[in-house]
Amino acid sequence: MTDVHDPKTRSYNMSRIRSKDTKPEMLVRKYLFAQGFRYRLHDKNLPGKPDLVFPKYKTVLFINGCFWHGHEGCKYYVVPQTNKDRWTEKIRKNKANDEKSYSKLKELGYKIIVVWECELKSTKKEATLNALTNLLAR
Ligand SMILES: [Zn+2]
Repeated sequence: MTDVHDPKTRSYNMSRIRSKDTKPEMLVRKYLFAQGFRYRLHDKNLPGKPDLVFPKYKTVLFINGCFWHGHEGCKYYVVPQTNKDRWTEKIRKNKANDEKSYSKLKELGYKIIVVWECELKSTKKEATLNALTNLLAR
C-alpha cells in the first residue's frame, strides 16, 4: 500500500475538509454575536434545522454550502464528471428539501435569510455581514 500524499499535502487536504462546513458558519456566528444579536443554534424543532434562529426577530438563517445546496450560477457549484447523474440527483433532492423547509418556515411566520458560502469569501464577507446586520435589524 502506498500513500500518494506527502504529509504536507495531506494536512492541507484535511484542513480544507474540516473548514468546509464550520468556517463560514463560525464567521457569521462570531460576527453577529459581537454585534449584539442573540440566537439559538441548529434548532431541531424547526423545519430544516436552521443554522441560527433569532427568536426576537422571528428570523432564521441558513448558511448554505454552494455545492451541497446547488447554488445556481456559482463557480463553486460544479457537479463532478464521475457519477454525474448521482450527484445531480443528490443535489436536486437537497434543494427540494430546502424549498420544503423554507415554505414550512414561512407558514410558521418566520423570515428566512440564506447566506451562501461564496458570499463569505474574503473579498465579499464584509459586505455580506453588513447586509445581514441590516436585514436582521429591519
Ligand atoms: Zn455560491
